Amino acid sequence: MFTHCDRCGNDHPGQLVRHDDGAQEALCFTCWNPIRGTVKVLNWINKHGKLQF
Ligand SMILES: [Zn+2]
Repeated sequence: MFTHCDRCGNDHPGQLVRHDDGAQEALCFTCWNPIRGTVKVLNWINKHGKLQF
């Protein structure tokens, strides 16, 4: 379950991303948008905190 953004802590993480070094974060749109060009989106997180396949 992904119930909080790993950066700002809000409860609407929208995407699970991977950085070049392999680190993964679940981010909300606000945190993801400025870095969207530098990370890979692995999956989207739905409103229930689960990955959308
Ligand atoms: Zn955030």
